[in-house]
Amino acid sequence: MKIENSASIKAYNTFGIDAQASKLAKAESKEDILELLEYTEVNKIPLFILGGGSNILFTKTINELVLLNRVRGIQVVDENSDAVWVEAMAGENWHEFVMHCIKNDWAGIENLSLIPGNVGASPMQNIGAYGVEIKDVFHSLKAINRKTGEVKTFNGQECEFGYRESIFKQREKSKWIIYSVTFKLSKKKHEYKTEYGAIINELDAMGITQPSIRSISNAVINIRQSKLPNPAELGNAGSFFKNPVVDNGLVEEIRKQYPNVVSYPAGDNNSKLAAGWLIENAGWKGFREGDAGVHAKQALVLVNYGKAKGNEIQNLADRIIADIKSKYGVHLEQEVNKY
Ligand code: FAD
Ligand code: NAP
Repeated sequence: MKIENSASIKAYNTFGIDAQASKLAKAESKEDILELLEYTEVNKIPLFILGGGSNILFTKTINELVLLNRVRGIQVVDENSDAVWVEAMAGENWHEFVMHCIKNDWAGIENLSLIPGNVGASPMQNIGAYGVEIKDVFHSLKAINRKTGEVKTFNGQECEFGYRESIFKQREKSKWIIYSVTFKLSKKKHEYKTEYGAIINELDAMGITQPSIRSISNAVINIRQSKLPNPAELGNAGSFFKNPVVDNGLVEEIRKQYPNVVSYPAGDNNSKLAAGWLIENAGWKGFREGDAGVHAKQALVLVNYGKAKGNEIQNLADRIIADIKSKYGVHLEQEVNKY
């Protein structure tokens, strides 16, 4: 396998940050991964796994071997009359996998259409959109232990999924290489999730009265294309911050001053605040300094207009975090992984 020295990873992260990696290699099979694990151990160089690079901000030189996971393949591992269990290799493109499922009439991940990145990273932050998270359809995953090379199967409980969270971002960080993910999808009696206002409105605008797997996917694609920047045209990593979950008392305090604040019930006397609303209301939408900015159509998305350095984007994020804290008393947590 070819291992490049001093390679730019600009083409491999959707922010388009031009950071240098000490070494870079593409793994296309389990054997490639094991070979790279051995190489990094023998040469005493740490390993960094990269999928589609759509949830990461590089703020410094990467003194590691970057393993681009490109192991591909999709197979049905079990099925009955109601459901199908589909295993997808980590290097499969997420949206192409969603399209594959829709083509086969398997329901469950249509709301997650057009999310960039690869299947292998989908459990990392339990990707979610429009009322669906992968934990809803997750069956298990196989991961390779970075130290021993052994493969372990994790079920949903063991992944400790939360809101944009999993054990792989927390306690088990940097211990595993996710190798494949198996999803349980429905073949009939589909339970569509169309309660998000934007989906209802878009299906309405499309003239759809009886939603289907494909029409929901099309509605999601239309909405996303209308408001989210395409990373191929404008560098970004999607929502930069998580929606904060706070005590209802704090929401009421905020509402006294800002009656239009957007919040949703989040159980146990808590509410989820729309971080995008907080940032927009604080005047950041469309802000630009140098090549780092806040997207003009969606304040939750930070963008790179071309030559921004990772640090410039991170500084902007830190300023927004401080401003939101002082304006509303709310701590914004970063969703995008910082390197
Ligand atoms: P990467 O950015 O390559 O990696 C992310 C992290 O996972 C890194 O820490 C990396 O080391 C680790 N990692 C990657 N692959 C593996 C592996 N095989 N094994 C172990 N560790 C690994 N996210 C949502 O949840 N919902 C959305 O609706 C959404 N919309 C987005 C829209 C846009 C326009 C963009 C740019 C991003 C969006 N995202 C969204 C964020 C992102 O697409 C997802 O989090 C996606 O799952 C990241 O996949 P990736 O392969 O690009 O991960
Ligand atoms: P939106 O429709 O403008 O809504 C703003 C926020 O309100 C969303 O983040 C969503 O929270 C919440 N929300 C809206 N309707 C809700 C409902 N009926 N019940 C509970 N919460 C509701 O959001 P948007 O920014 O355009 O994004 C649309 C969807 O795509 C969201 O689910 C969002 O998470 C997802 N998305 C994620 C990323 C990313 O990088 N993570 C990027 C783009 C879009 P939730 O975020 O908790 O769903």
